[in-house]
Amino acid sequence: MYVQEDTYRHKGMRKGLVRILQEKGITQPQVLQAILKIPRHVFFDNALVEHAYQDKAFPIGEGQTISQPYTVAFQTELLHVRPGDKVLEIGTGSGYQSCVLLELGAEVFTIEYNQVLYERTRKFLPMMGYQPHFFHGDGSKGLPAHAPYDKIIVTAGAPTVPSDLLGQLKEGGVLVIPVGNNTTQKMFRITRLADKKLLKEEFDNFSFVPLLGDKGWGKSAK
Ligand code: SAM
Repeated sequence: MYVQEDTYRHKGMRKGLVRILQEKGITQPQVLQAILKIPRHVFFDNALVEHAYQDKAFPIGEGQTISQPYTVAFQTELLHVRPGDKVLEIGTGSGYQSCVLLELGAEVFTIEYNQVLYERTRKFLPMMGYQPHFFHGDGSKGLPAHAPYDKIIVTAGAPTVPSDLLGQLKEGGVLVIPVGNNTTQKMFRITRLADKKLLKEEFDNFSFVPLLGDKGWGKSAK
Protein backbone atom coordinates (compact mmCIF):
# COMPACT_ATOMS: atom_id res chain seq x y z
CA MET A 1 0.00 0.00 0.00
CA TYR A 2 1.50 3.39 -0.99
CA VAL A 3 0.29 6.90 -1.78
CA GLN A 4 0.60 7.68 -5.49
CA GLU A 5 2.14 10.90 -6.76
CA ASP A 6 -0.15 13.90 -7.28
CA THR A 7 0.97 15.52 -10.55
CA TYR A 8 -0.05 18.74 -12.38
CA ARG A 9 -2.05 16.51 -14.71
CA HIS A 10 -4.05 15.14 -11.79
CA LYS A 11 -4.57 18.65 -10.41
CA GLY A 12 -5.80 19.78 -13.84
CA MET A 13 -8.26 16.88 -13.96
CA ARG A 14 -9.52 17.83 -10.49
CA LYS A 15 -10.21 21.37 -11.71
CA GLY A 16 -12.26 19.83 -14.52
CA LEU A 17 -14.20 17.71 -12.03
CA VAL A 18 -14.95 20.78 -9.89
CA ARG A 19 -16.29 22.60 -12.98
CA ILE A 20 -18.60 19.63 -13.69
CA LEU A 21 -19.87 19.70 -10.09
CA GLN A 22 -20.53 23.45 -10.35
CA GLU A 23 -22.47 22.90 -13.57
CA LYS A 24 -24.55 20.27 -11.72
CA GLY A 25 -25.43 22.81 -9.00
CA ILE A 26 -22.82 22.42 -6.23
CA THR A 27 -22.10 25.91 -4.87
CA GLN A 28 -20.56 25.77 -1.37
CA PRO A 29 -16.97 27.04 -1.80
CA GLN A 30 -15.59 24.92 1.08
CA VAL A 31 -16.98 21.73 -0.47
CA LEU A 32 -15.60 22.56 -3.92
CA GLN A 33 -12.25 23.52 -2.35
CA ALA A 34 -12.04 20.16 -0.55
CA ILE A 35 -12.71 18.25 -3.78
CA LEU A 36 -10.10 20.37 -5.56
CA LYS A 37 -7.55 19.53 -2.88
CA ILE A 38 -8.05 15.78 -2.25
CA PRO A 39 -6.34 13.48 -4.78
CA ARG A 40 -9.16 11.06 -5.66
CA HIS A 41 -6.89 8.93 -7.88
CA VAL A 42 -4.95 7.60 -4.89
CA PHE A 43 -8.11 5.73 -3.79
CA PHE A 44 -8.18 3.77 -7.06
CA ASP A 45 -6.62 0.49 -8.18
CA ASN A 46 -3.92 1.02 -10.82
CA ALA A 47 -6.21 -0.42 -13.49
CA LEU A 48 -8.87 2.25 -12.85
CA VAL A 49 -6.68 5.26 -12.06
CA GLU A 50 -7.40 6.96 -15.42
CA HIS A 51 -11.10 7.15 -14.48
CA ALA A 52 -10.58 8.79 -11.09
CA TYR A 53 -11.73 12.26 -12.14
CA GLN A 54 -14.87 11.19 -13.93
CA ASP A 55 -18.05 12.01 -12.04
CA LYS A 56 -18.81 8.35 -11.42
CA ALA A 57 -18.83 5.78 -8.62
CA PHE A 58 -16.16 3.04 -8.97
CA PRO A 59 -15.49 -0.34 -7.37
CA ILE A 60 -13.13 -0.44 -4.37
CA GLY A 61 -13.30 -4.21 -3.78
CA GLU A 62 -15.52 -6.30 -1.48
CA GLY A 63 -18.50 -5.47 -3.73
CA GLN A 64 -18.39 -1.82 -2.54
CA THR A 65 -17.84 1.52 -4.25
CA ILE A 66 -16.26 4.94 -3.83
CA SER A 67 -19.30 7.23 -4.23
CA GLN A 68 -19.76 9.48 -7.25
CA PRO A 69 -18.15 12.90 -6.56
CA TYR A 70 -21.49 14.65 -7.18
CA THR A 71 -23.11 12.46 -4.52
CA VAL A 72 -20.30 13.19 -2.03
CA ALA A 73 -20.60 16.92 -2.73
CA PHE A 74 -24.43 16.90 -2.55
CA GLN A 75 -24.56 15.04 0.77
CA THR A 76 -21.79 17.22 2.21
CA GLU A 77 -23.59 20.42 1.18
CA LEU A 78 -26.79 19.19 2.87
CA LEU A 79 -24.87 18.62 6.12
CA HIS A 80 -23.63 22.25 6.37
CA VAL A 81 -20.50 21.18 8.25
CA ARG A 82 -18.95 23.84 10.49
CA PRO A 83 -15.37 23.67 11.83
CA GLY A 84 -15.37 21.69 15.06
CA ASP A 85 -18.59 19.80 14.27
CA LYS A 86 -18.63 16.23 15.56
CA VAL A 87 -19.66 14.17 12.52
CA LEU A 88 -20.53 10.46 12.35
CA GLU A 89 -20.07 8.87 8.92
CA ILE A 90 -21.70 5.47 8.39
CA GLY A 91 -19.88 3.54 5.66
CA THR A 92 -16.17 4.45 5.66
CA GLY A 93 -15.53 2.59 2.40
CA SER A 94 -12.50 4.11 0.64
CA GLY A 95 -12.24 6.96 3.16
CA TYR A 96 -12.72 9.68 0.51
CA GLN A 97 -15.85 11.15 2.14
CA SER A 98 -14.04 11.20 5.51
CA CYS A 99 -11.26 13.28 3.93
CA VAL A 100 -13.83 15.78 2.60
CA LEU A 101 -15.38 16.12 6.08
CA LEU A 102 -11.93 16.54 7.67
CA GLU A 103 -11.05 19.26 5.14
CA LEU A 104 -14.16 21.13 6.34
CA GLY A 105 -12.76 21.10 9.88
CA ALA A 106 -14.99 18.39 11.36
CA GLU A 107 -13.99 15.83 13.98
CA VAL A 108 -14.93 12.67 12.11
CA PHE A 109 -16.10 9.36 13.58
CA THR A 110 -16.40 6.80 10.78
CA ILE A 111 -17.74 3.26 11.01
CA GLU A 112 -17.39 0.46 8.46
CA TYR A 113 -19.13 -2.95 8.45
CA ASN A 114 -16.72 -4.73 6.12
CA GLN A 115 -13.59 -5.89 7.95
CA VAL A 116 -11.29 -5.80 4.89
CA LEU A 117 -12.24 -2.23 3.97
CA TYR A 118 -12.03 -1.13 7.60
CA GLU A 119 -8.47 -2.50 7.94
CA ARG A 120 -7.35 -1.13 4.59
CA THR A 121 -8.71 2.40 5.06
CA ARG A 122 -7.60 2.65 8.69
CA LYS A 123 -4.02 2.11 7.50
CA PHE A 124 -4.24 4.15 4.30
CA LEU A 125 -5.82 7.46 5.37
CA PRO A 126 -3.17 8.41 7.96
CA MET A 127 -0.54 7.85 5.23
CA MET A 128 -2.28 10.68 3.36
CA GLY A 129 -2.34 12.86 6.45
CA TYR A 130 -6.02 12.32 7.30
CA GLN A 131 -7.00 11.03 10.74
CA PRO A 132 -10.64 10.36 11.52
CA HIS A 133 -11.59 8.04 14.41
CA PHE A 134 -12.07 4.60 12.81
CA PHE A 135 -14.57 1.98 14.00
CA HIS A 136 -15.50 -1.48 12.76
CA GLY A 137 -19.09 -2.61 13.19
CA ASP A 138 -22.74 -2.17 12.30
CA GLY A 139 -23.30 1.55 11.78
CA SER A 140 -27.02 1.06 11.09
CA LYS A 141 -27.32 1.37 14.89
CA GLY A 142 -25.03 4.41 14.89
CA LEU A 143 -22.12 4.67 17.28
CA PRO A 144 -23.75 5.27 20.69
CA ALA A 145 -20.47 5.21 22.63
CA HIS A 146 -19.47 8.60 21.17
CA ALA A 147 -22.92 10.19 20.74
CA PRO A 148 -24.35 12.81 20.51
CA TYR A 149 -23.24 14.16 17.11
CA ASP A 150 -23.77 17.49 15.36
CA LYS A 151 -24.13 15.71 12.04
CA ILE A 152 -24.62 12.12 10.81
CA ILE A 153 -24.09 11.11 7.18
CA VAL A 154 -25.09 7.67 5.88
CA THR A 155 -23.29 6.65 2.68
CA ALA A 156 -25.29 3.49 1.92
CA GLY A 157 -28.98 3.08 1.03
CA ALA A 158 -31.29 2.34 3.99
CA PRO A 159 -34.75 0.71 3.88
CA THR A 160 -36.04 3.17 6.54
CA VAL A 161 -34.58 5.89 8.78
CA PRO A 162 -33.06 4.04 11.77
CA SER A 163 -34.47 5.63 14.95
CA ASP A 164 -31.16 4.92 16.73
CA LEU A 165 -29.52 7.52 14.47
CA LEU A 166 -32.09 10.20 15.31
CA GLY A 167 -31.52 9.49 19.00
CA GLN A 168 -27.78 10.12 18.58
CA LEU A 169 -28.21 13.65 17.18
CA LYS A 170 -27.73 16.76 19.30
CA GLU A 171 -30.60 19.26 19.37
CA GLY A 172 -30.17 21.17 16.10
CA GLY A 173 -28.26 18.20 14.69
CA VAL A 174 -28.67 16.98 11.11
CA LEU A 175 -28.93 13.49 9.59
CA VAL A 176 -28.42 13.04 5.83
CA ILE A 177 -29.52 9.61 4.63
CA PRO A 178 -30.59 7.93 1.37
CA VAL A 179 -33.75 5.84 1.91
CA GLY A 180 -35.47 3.55 -0.58
CA ASN A 181 -35.22 0.11 -2.16
CA ASN A 182 -32.23 -1.91 -3.43
CA THR A 183 -31.77 0.17 -6.58
CA THR A 184 -33.02 3.72 -5.95
CA GLN A 185 -33.13 5.87 -2.86
CA LYS A 186 -34.38 9.36 -2.10
CA MET A 187 -32.05 11.67 -0.17
CA PHE A 188 -33.44 12.94 3.10
CA ARG A 189 -32.19 15.60 5.48
CA ILE A 190 -33.66 15.33 8.96
CA THR A 191 -33.01 18.07 11.51
CA ARG A 192 -33.62 17.42 15.19
CA LEU A 193 -35.43 20.49 16.54
CA ALA A 194 -36.27 21.45 20.13
CA ASP A 195 -38.64 19.14 22.05
CA LYS A 196 -37.48 16.16 19.92
CA LYS A 197 -39.46 17.49 16.93
CA LEU A 198 -38.04 16.55 13.52
CA LEU A 199 -37.89 18.57 10.31
CA LYS A 200 -37.78 16.16 7.34
CA GLU A 201 -36.73 17.45 3.90
CA GLU A 202 -36.71 15.36 0.72
CA PHE A 203 -34.30 15.71 -2.23
CA ASP A 204 -33.39 13.90 -5.49
CA ASN A 205 -33.04 10.19 -6.20
CA PHE A 206 -29.65 8.46 -5.93
CA SER A 207 -28.34 4.93 -6.23
CA PHE A 208 -26.26 3.59 -3.33
CA VAL A 209 -25.02 0.16 -2.29
CA PRO A 210 -27.27 -1.20 0.48
CA LEU A 211 -26.90 -0.31 4.14
CA LEU A 212 -26.37 -3.69 5.78
CA GLY A 213 -26.84 -4.64 9.42
CA ASP A 214 -29.66 -4.85 11.98
CA LYS A 215 -31.41 -1.59 11.06
CA GLY A 216 -30.47 -1.88 7.39
CA TRP A 217 -31.06 -4.73 4.95
CA GLY A 218 -29.62 -7.41 7.28
CA LYS A 219 -26.36 -9.34 6.97
CA SER A 220 -26.36 -9.36 3.18
CA ALA A 221 -28.40 -7.47 0.63
CA LYS A 222 -29.47 -10.66 -1.17
N1 SAM B 1 -18.18 6.95 2.18
C1 SAM B 1 -17.60 5.97 1.31
C2 SAM B 1 -16.46 6.50 0.48
O1 SAM B 1 -16.17 7.71 0.55
O2 SAM B 1 -15.80 5.71 -0.21
C3 SAM B 1 -18.68 5.33 0.46
C4 SAM B 1 -18.61 3.87 0.53
S1 SAM B 1 -19.83 2.84 -0.13
C5 SAM B 1 -20.89 3.77 -1.14
C6 SAM B 1 -20.81 2.42 1.31
C7 SAM B 1 -20.06 1.73 2.42
O3 SAM B 1 -20.99 1.45 3.47
C8 SAM B 1 -19.43 0.39 2.04
O4 SAM B 1 -18.06 0.42 2.32
C9 SAM B 1 -20.16 -0.63 2.93
O5 SAM B 1 -19.35 -1.71 3.34
C10 SAM B 1 -20.57 0.25 4.10
N2 SAM B 1 -21.68 -0.26 4.90
C11 SAM B 1 -22.80 -0.90 4.50
N3 SAM B 1 -23.59 -1.17 5.56
C12 SAM B 1 -22.95 -0.70 6.67
C13 SAM B 1 -23.26 -0.68 8.06
N4 SAM B 1 -24.36 -1.22 8.56
N5 SAM B 1 -22.37 -0.08 8.89
C14 SAM B 1 -21.22 0.49 8.43
N6 SAM B 1 -20.88 0.47 7.12
C15 SAM B 1 -21.74 -0.09 6.25
